[in-house]
Amino acid sequence: MGKQKQGSNYVEEITKMEQDFSQWYTDVVLKAELADYGMVKGCMAIKPYGFQIWEQIRAGLNERLMATGHQNVYLPILIPESLLNKEKEHVEGFAPEVAWVTIGGEKELEERLCIRPTSETLFSTMFAKWVNSWRDLPLLYNQWGNVVRWEKSTRPFLRTAEFLWQEGHTVHATAEESAAETQKILNLYSDYAEKVLAIPVIKGRKTEQEKFAGAVNTYTIEAMMHDGQALQAGTSHNFGQNFSIPFEIKYQNKAGKMEYCWQTSWGVTTRLIGGIIMVHGDNRGLVLPPRVAPVQVILVPIAGHKTGVLKKCQEVLQELRNLYRVIIDDRDNYSPGWKFNQWEMKGVPLRLEIGPRDIIHEQVVLVRRDTGEKEVVKIEQLKEQIGSKLADIQNSLFQKALEKREKRTYRAEQLKDFKKIIAKETGFIKGMLCGNKECEEKMKEITRTTVRCIPFEQEKLSERCICCGGAAGEMAIFARAY
Ligand SMILES: [Zn+2]
Repeated sequence: MGKQKQGSNYVEEITKMEQDFSQWYTDVVLKAELADYGMVKGCMAIKPYGFQIWEQIRAGLNERLMATGHQNVYLPILIPESLLNKEKEHVEGFAPEVAWVTIGGEKELEERLCIRPTSETLFSTMFAKWVNSWRDLPLLYNQWGNVVRWEKSTRPFLRTAEFLWQEGHTVHATAEESAAETQKILNLYSDYAEKVLAIPVIKGRKTEQEKFAGAVNTYTIEAMMHDGQALQAGTSHNFGQNFSIPFEIKYQNKAGKMEYCWQTSWGVTTRLIGGIIMVHGDNRGLVLPPRVAPVQVILVPIAGHKTGVLKKCQEVLQELRNLYRVIIDDRDNYSPGWKFNQWEMKGVPLRLEIGPRDIIHEQVVLVRRDTGEKEVVKIEQLKEQIGSKLADIQNSLFQKALEKREKRTYRAEQLKDFKKIIAKETGFIKGMLCGNKECEEKMKEITRTTVRCIPFEQEKLSERCICCGGAAGEMAIFARAY
């Protein structure tokens, strides 16, 4: 690209989010160079910068999982059809989205193989082999891998035919232990989402209708996006003995008696990247929370051809590089202005500018991505200043997202109030439910929202079910969702 074309129109190349949120999202994914469309519909090619974000997420979660006693394993990508069919609800839930392998080499297979949409059946088969005695328990396994689900409508990161994730699968001796594991992981996910991704989440239980196929209970963390829609950001399932009975996962207890095991599974996926984009991004592109940003500080030399500038930049870079993820953009075929725009688009939290005048005064210019605030900082204070600014950005992104969510969370006591709200607003709506599945179905039909969860933090908004007017059971959170 020639210098003439490097004007300020970089930012004008993305749609304004107020104008068309979904186009804005796609523009950011492409312009920030996170991913591109693959050759098969619904598949994406993750580019280096997008993959670096995933690597940050993977490292952070992996560290937390290992610290809580989990171990990584790897199981095959192909599942024989007979295995998938072993747990009835599970197969019914996943069958419509499964991709099949029917030919191997040039020969038609006797039994077709599915490309894993999730790995409960595989893990359960292996667990039946690996578990014998109470001494073997618990098994706390995790797998980093990919799965394929033949989705009808897809969008990069949010819903793709193939996606990357971690799936945890655990086996326990008692119901109490598997219940505790499910909650422990849900808390780990919510802590990670809030502290690292700066995404506030609501913890709760999925309804019977919305729970995972084959689970006794599914727990979820739900986040609100910029446009008021919900994103399910992670789930944790308690299986009870739903898989251990058909798969015969048994152990000999201390008294020498054989008993069925208790299981859980849980996962988060590359859709977390979609969540980061849609919670923090703005009309200049991506905004990354410092704790997950692959590049926390971008150093841009000003008038890099002038004596001493690049040398000073290198000195500063060396000083900072052990403390922060910092890189220098010393490409001489792009103007500083063009670089500013590009790194803003990529959401780098802090920009550091050093020019000839700054060198004379022993100073640099620091610019925040989230607020655009510019500040002149003495080089001797730079290390500290960067640390405190990154912490401040992290904190303020979370607070901003939380305030936005609070502002767009509504309460409805009666159906007519509910309808009034959704006619004007998109957001979370709290309402009481009686617990009958008919009411949940009807709400879906009438309002085109789904129950995101029954939050752990309950409020009693009214004595009556919002749908049928019968005696209310629990408060639900309704929303349109990605
Ligand atoms: Zn009802």
